[in-house]
Amino acid sequence: MERKLSSETICVQAGWKPKKGEPRVLPIYQSTTFKYDTSEEMGKLFDLEESGYFYTRLQNPTNDAVASKIAELEGGVGAMLTSSGQAASFYAIFNICSAGDHFVSASAIYGGTFNLFAVTLKKLGIEVSFVDQDATNEEIAAAFRPNTKALFAETIANPGLSVLDIEKFASIAHSQGVPLIVDNTFPTPINCRPFEWGADIVIHSTTKYMDGHASSVGGAIVDSGNFDWNAYKDKFPGLTEPDPSYHGLTYTESFGKMAYITKATVQLMRDLGSIQSPQNSFLINIGLETLHLRMARHCENAQKVAEHLQKDERVAWIHYCGLKGDKYYETAEKYLPNGSCGVITFGLKGGRDNSIRFMDNLELAAIVTHVADARTSVLHPASHTHRQLSDEQLIAAGVAPDLIRFSVGIENVNDIIADIDQALAKAY
Ligand SMILES: *Cc1c(COP(=O)(O)O)cnc(C)c1O
Repeated sequence: MERKLSSETICVQAGWKPKKGEPRVLPIYQSTTFKYDTSEEMGKLFDLEESGYFYTRLQNPTNDAVASKIAELEGGVGAMLTSSGQAASFYAIFNICSAGDHFVSASAIYGGTFNLFAVTLKKLGIEVSFVDQDATNEEIAAAFRPNTKALFAETIANPGLSVLDIEKFASIAHSQGVPLIVDNTFPTPINCRPFEWGADIVIHSTTKYMDGHASSVGGAIVDSGNFDWNAYKDKFPGLTEPDPSYHGLTYTESFGKMAYITKATVQLMRDLGSIQSPQNSFLINIGLETLHLRMARHCENAQKVAEHLQKDERVAWIHYCGLKGDKYYETAEKYLPNGSCGVITFGLKGGRDNSIRFMDNLELAAIVTHVADARTSVLHPASHTHRQLSDEQLIAAGVAPDLIRFSVGIENVNDIIADIDQALAKAY
């Protein structure tokens, strides 16, 4: 999709386009179903001969308005909302992989996605190989097999904070004849649009910055429309061969550039049903209207907090790609020139006990299993999300035992820094 408007305007204006006399604000279509005058009219919808709403599990006007805003922000041809980011990751892979297939993923990814890929998809007969995203093209290419159907990575990894060389990954994927799927949750399309660097499919946990207020769990899949499925017909039969559940319709023939996202909607969502509720879509849309303002403030605050922590002698190490000298500083300059996100990770000297004492003494920053919220929040993965792992296993998983994940909010940065300072004083 040609982006005619800038991101700020798309955030505020895209999606819901009221006609004469219709509500100015996106209405919540709180209805499972939609009325038709004749049986024949409705029949055509079931055969995908005509487009129209009939049942909210497949499509709903509130959800579609929000999906189309996200598609426009990313510069894609279409999008689908899901009930969570996890559902988006699952559908993005399952739309092109079935039992007997394989895909390749960066190993530095969200823990929930790691479990989905390594454990649950395996039960469905879909295998994954994890690669170090900073390895050479040859090393990564060596993980591909004849039955490999996709390459997956996160723009900014949660919580590892590595920054993806998207062009490198796109070129590896395309030389292997598979699409690159990128989880763009942390930068959001305000700070990075992976399609502009060659990614084919983007997914989001809208639960994070897009919602921004920790009010609703959700996800999205966006299709760039750029991947040529027909060029690898045998690899993607689900898209290029007739679907018996729609009287033999072929997605690439009937929907062209919209083939992937249409299949995800009319086949996977129809059959698996992890839909977003229209109520939650409404909340996500309110979040999206200020996304551009919030992202700028998250990044500005995080940069100041990171620089402050870096100067403190009690801080053993810190990761934030906005810091000169960070391993990903140069990659971020290329892909994230306007800022990355509000999440910083660091460890304190003296190890895990000091990290825990520091967190327990924070007053403004709340301990929550959440990131990317307007409110500053903090988590100690070794005590929370990864608490079953031994210190050795933690290190193997890329989560240092002393790692603190600090999600900088949009409060006044001086108050955030004062809170850090008083908690540090109490931790030692
Ligand atoms: C949170 C998160 C997810 C999972 O999203 P949910 O909405 O919690 O299901 C996926 N990827 C990333 C990068 C995340 O931060």
